[in-house]
Amino acid sequence: MKVELENAVGRVFHATSVSEGMGMARCVVLYGERPAIAERKILPEEIEGEVERFSKALIQTSEQLQKVAERVKEVLGGDSASIFESHQLVMEDQMFLDEVIRMIRDECMPADLAAQRVSLKYVHFFENVPDEYFRQRVADIRDVTTRLVDNLTGWSQHDGYTQLTEPSILVSSDLTPSQTVQINRQMIAGIVTEQGGITSHVGILARSLKIPAVAGMHRATEIFKTGQQLLVDGYRGIVILSPTEEEIRSYDVQVEQERELAHSLEEDAAKPVATLDGRNITLAANLGQPAEAAHAVEAGANGVGLLRTEFLFFNRNTLPNEDEQYEDYLKVATSMGERPVVIRTLDLGADKKTSILEFPFEENPFLGYRAIRFCLQNSAVFKTQLRALLRASAVAGNIKIMYPMISGVEEYDAAQKVLHECMEELDREGKAYNPHLEVGVMIEIPSAVICAGELARKASFFSIGTNDLIQYTMAVDRMNPNVNYLYKPTHPAIIRLISSTVQGARHGNGHGGIPVCICGEMAGDAELTPLLIGLGIDELSISVPNMMKVRRVIQRVYFNDCHKLACQALQMGDPAQIMKLSSDFVREVAPELFVER
Ligand code: PEP
Ligand code: MG
Repeated sequence: MKVELENAVGRVFHATSVSEGMGMARCVVLYGERPAIAERKILPEEIEGEVERFSKALIQTSEQLQKVAERVKEVLGGDSASIFESHQLVMEDQMFLDEVIRMIRDECMPADLAAQRVSLKYVHFFENVPDEYFRQRVADIRDVTTRLVDNLTGWSQHDGYTQLTEPSILVSSDLTPSQTVQINRQMIAGIVTEQGGITSHVGILARSLKIPAVAGMHRATEIFKTGQQLLVDGYRGIVILSPTEEEIRSYDVQVEQERELAHSLEEDAAKPVATLDGRNITLAANLGQPAEAAHAVEAGANGVGLLRTEFLFFNRNTLPNEDEQYEDYLKVATSMGERPVVIRTLDLGADKKTSILEFPFEENPFLGYRAIRFCLQNSAVFKTQLRALLRASAVAGNIKIMYPMISGVEEYDAAQKVLHECMEELDREGKAYNPHLEVGVMIEIPSAVICAGELARKASFFSIGTNDLIQYTMAVDRMNPNVNYLYKPTHPAIIRLISSTVQGARHGNGHGGIPVCICGEMAGDAELTPLLIGLGIDELSISVPNMMKVRRVIQRVYFNDCHKLACQALQMGDPAQIMKLSSDFVREVAPELFVER
């Protein structure tokens, strides 16, 4: 059932589709422009009322912080919520409270303005103290005082996403990684953001939680108002404001079709993941949090191809220690049984920053202090993680380590040197680890592709991070909606780089070289599966909800046909034609995957 959208001009907004599915609900707009607080005086008879309003806002803020802390503890557990407990301390700071009340009483200032003035004074003070610890607390102080002032002005969208009582569409400029971990899946019917694209963390998270989402919608937080009815079409990258009855009917039909398709795809899980002519492909899961491991097993994943360990560093005010990390890694590894689990060392920096570690201002954060570069310059943080991984490997023999953002052999060698130092330390301490632990390299910088042969002689496996490889090859910031149109996974340069990586991997030790996985989002696009298999990829690691369609395609194709298709694609120059070549092939072998929209 197709609905004409042309006549809906003014209500239909185009964006980038980042997570499939459709969701309809009232929207909650987050982080729209905060209205400025007007300079004004109150009358003497209003003073006590304002003092009381301030006291009530303090209680309200404390209760909100309590709820956020509980929610974070539920999702991330342990020490993660302690940051919100320290936020509470700001609310109890007597000097802060006295100063606000003094301004209300002595200067006839309304409570919101007084609280804002004192908050700014505090932030300014802590920004300028020489002590590093206090400087790093500025973000916390700003966070909690902003919440307090919002409660006083009635600007109530702060943390709306954690306190929803009915399913809603979230509209936001962007969602930070620490905000996204607090999302209650049951209450989010869809996400619309102004920033980001398919490989931004919002997109990755939305797909793993199966939330329909679009990103890169220009001025979304100005266009939509909290309470408006929105339909988010994550298939076509469309948002419809106040959908008509006809559009709602079409939405219902499509949701039902998708449900039926998902049901039929579930049946494939019991069959081996191999092509019709017997080439086995490993279908692994990308996990952002340990809790997702159970879903991966349920969905029939052959392992974990990428555990992003950044989750350990968000929403907390102390670094995770070795034992905590050990527990988390072990939890994921044991819940996967014998299946291999690739744990990526920290990839913080660029869009993934945390207030517990210092990241200086950078003109080009994606070209800067990130991932392995950060780890090699912060050996204490790196060693803690490596020691935890090594110790976990003694119990869970299925653990493998992977380094992100490796630009060439020297960086790999430097990381390995630290790993060997950790092994020697553990030897001295009499602590066990798996001495045969496999170590792999993410191929996500073009220089690593060019040096793939040399890297393959050292590493145990490759995993191509296409999210970054595309960004660095095309010189297109993966978060920037203005240049999103250049972000093309089927650009001939990308296809050829994947092919070169596979050729490079052949130089590796072992029969036929070392295996190559793709763990970037491109691996989860079922329309590209024949192309990627044909290029010689051994493993696809994708978010759990995307697994079913990819598996169906693998089970319906002959490797020989895929190989021919890939050879043809390698001769082509037009990204759209390469996309069409692979997509048409999938349409032939698995037409049911294409629901008419
Ligand atoms: C990638 O770059 O493709 C990747 C998987 O890593 P991340 O998205 O975490 O940068
Ligand atoms: Mg990457």
